[in-house]
Amino acid sequence: LATLFLDRIGQSDLNAFLHVDRELTLQQAAQADRRIAADDVTALTGIPIAHKDLFVTRGWRTTAGSKMLENYVSPFDATVVEQFNAAGTVTLGKLNCDEFAMGSGNENSYFGAVKNPWDKRAVPGGSSGGSAAAIAARLAPAATGTDTGGSIRQPSSLCGVTGIKPTYGSVSRYGMIAFASSLDQGGPIAKTAEDCGLLLNAMSGFDQRDSTSIERPKEDFTRSLNDSIKGLRIGVPKEFFGAGLAPDVEQAVRAALAEYEKLGATLVDISLPKTELSIPVYYVIAPAEASSNLSRFDGVRYGHRAADYKDLSDMYKKSRAEGFGDEVKRRILVGAYVLSHGYYDAYYLQAQKIRRLIAQDFQNALTGPDRKCDVIMGPVSPTVAWDLGDKTDDPVANYLADIFTLSTSLAGLPGMSIPCGFGQGEKNGNRPVGLQIIGSYYDEARLLNVAHQYQ
Ligand code: GLN
Repeated sequence: LATLFLDRIGQSDLNAFLHVDRELTLQQAAQADRRIAADDVTALTGIPIAHKDLFVTRGWRTTAGSKMLENYVSPFDATVVEQFNAAGTVTLGKLNCDEFAMGSGNENSYFGAVKNPWDKRAVPGGSSGGSAAAIAARLAPAATGTDTGGSIRQPSSLCGVTGIKPTYGSVSRYGMIAFASSLDQGGPIAKTAEDCGLLLNAMSGFDQRDSTSIERPKEDFTRSLNDSIKGLRIGVPKEFFGAGLAPDVEQAVRAALAEYEKLGATLVDISLPKTELSIPVYYVIAPAEASSNLSRFDGVRYGHRAADYKDLSDMYKKSRAEGFGDEVKRRILVGAYVLSHGYYDAYYLQAQKIRRLIAQDFQNALTGPDRKCDVIMGPVSPTVAWDLGDKTDDPVANYLADIFTLSTSLAGLPGMSIPCGFGQGEKNGNRPVGLQIIGSYYDEARLLNVAHQYQ
């Protein structure tokens, strides 16, 4: 299996992989063979997997898509990587992504954009664009991704694959290079919900090295895949179907909802009134946390250091100026601004208050005795994949593309994307559309069940 996928990766021109090391992969495959021979197996033993280059890996470079970490090799494995290794998976390599996971099109990678396998003129989505493109092109059967404001769901949607961002705190952030710590959450991207369930079984769980990890008993996320969804109440938020949603995306999503009705579910109109505010709120909170997290890249401890400098302060400035790309600098500037004395109350604190109200919207719909629905469905992205280069000069256009994924992240809820058809885009041929399924806290098994029944 490893050889098959390595050969495909070698022939691919998508730029999905940043690091491949045949020898390392085949060594791990041989180990898996020995485990299989000894009957010491899990559901994933011998299954090839590729990791987003945001998860640190011993023996492989980890760049976070940045020049800052171009030659960085971590001395330890991220917990997620450790868990997969323990389960016996075989690492195929490291996947391209937006620099420090900041982006929606994978065009912010220092190592170049990734192409969408459905149409190589299109972006694959981001920031886990390498992960979604690799699954869509069958360069890997399984991949890890991270989602801070949509980075698992949106590229999954744009590449026509399945991805799930679990409840915040259920997958360890230890060794996952930090972007915005109160939002960052790892999760799997694969072909089907069933595969995602198996992957989530391996990667979730309490980790004392992550201060926001949740202590809960291990569960089997595949346990209810085959349950009937008769009587399921699907909340359809009107704010997810307003102006700005492309007609081709709406059509594919509505067709999927009709399919769910045929499976015995009922559609319930709901409202998530604060949806619109999720963009300004997220683009205050995420940069604020990023500006703080990225202060560690100072040219001293690790990462890029400028070759010539006058003194310490000059070394900091030059190293960071050379090591970070435009979008990362933009976020650091915004973040430092909203946290600064005199602005903190007006921006950061205010954003935190609205974040709570956004979470409350979901609570009103999904929990309590008066709850209106069991899951929420809508589009993942307002449009199909756009053309490479179309939004590179317009950061705000990129931010607006996150409208349907940010609120779930701000609330810490689980959300997933499953393929539900194709749209025409503006001028091009068929490009995939994803259906978003959002659930209450810890309801991943149900989301996977609901997805599996459709698939
Ligand atoms: N597109 C969003 C951003 O640029 C989300 C990225 C993510 O989830 N990592 O911040």
